[in-house]
This record gives sequence, C-alpha cells and structure tokens, in this order.
Amino acid sequence: MTGIYETNSPEETLALGEEFGRKAEKGLIIALTGDLGVGKTLFSKGFAKGLGITEPVSSPTFTIVKVYVGGRLPFYHFDVYRISDPDEMDEIGFDEFIFGDGASLIEWADLIEEIIPEEAVRITIEKNPEKGFDYRKITVS
Ligand code: ADP
Ligand code: MG
Repeated sequence: MTGIYETNSPEETLALGEEFGRKAEKGLIIALTGDLGVGKTLFSKGFAKGLGITEPVSSPTFTIVKVYVGGRLPFYHFDVYRISDPDEMDEIGFDEFIFGDGASLIEWADLIEEIIPEEAVRITIEKNPEKGFDYRKITVS
C-alpha cells in the first residue's frame, strides 16, 4: 500500500487508517510521523477500527504505549512524543511489542528513528496550507 494518498477531511483519514487496519498482518510495524495536530491519532483510530477493535482509542502520550486486545490482532499503539532518549523504550519492552504477535503503530516515530526496524512501514502525514485547512498528504513507503 505504498504511495501518496490525499485526504480532505478527518473522515477520509480515518477511513484510510481503517483500510490499513483491515489489511494488517501479524508483525506489521507502522512508523507514523507528522507535526502535532496533523492526524496521527485519527489515523490510529481508523487503524484500530480496521482491526476490529471497538474499544475507544485515545492518544497514549502519557503512557507511551496502550495495548488493545479486542480485535483480529493485538494492537500496540505507541506515542513516543515524551521520550527524550530512545534507551527509555527498552524500559517499556519496546522490542517485545514490535516483534510480538500483534500490529504496532508508533506516533512520532522520527523521535526514535534509530530503534525503528528497517522493515517498518513509514507513513508521513503533512499539511499544505495552500490546499486548505483539512487537506492532508499521506506518504507511505
Ligand atoms: P495528531 O495525533 O497528529 O496530533 P490528531 O489526530 O489528534 O493529530 O488531530 C488531528 C486534527 O486535525 C483533528 O482535530 C482533525 O479533526 C483535524 N483534521 C482536519 N482535517 C483532517 C484530515 N484531512 N485528516 C486528519 N485530521 C484532520
Ligand atoms: Mg496524537
């Protein structure tokens, strides 16, 4: 699903996340990058929905990781905004999660780039003021 996607509403970004969630396989790691308020958590909510998770998904900024087990696969949702040193990720057992039995999605992955495995799917969300307030460019590589 690599390529460039464009959305023009929160609903479209949610739907795109949902599509990724539906297709996710065990061991998938999504490294999600983009500025504050760009739609990372919204995409993550869609992703969870696509995995069949019905529990409400919220940003794990204060807990670093939240685990959702109600779907087709366990979902490990990270938000590493508050991590100041990638070594801190060892303490929460980062590798056990990302190399575990579920699908992982890491918001602010660029902050821990050195510990993101090569095989991770990189998704970057960007705004473009010239294209309107709700426009988002979503690059998947
Ligand atoms: P982040 O997790 O990147 O900080 P959030 O997902 O919490 O961002 O918030 C994104 C905000 O941007 C929401 O308020 C959402 O309604 C708004 N928004 C507007 N247009 C879009 C779009 N096309 N895609 C995603 N979010 C959008
Ligand atoms: Mg967020």
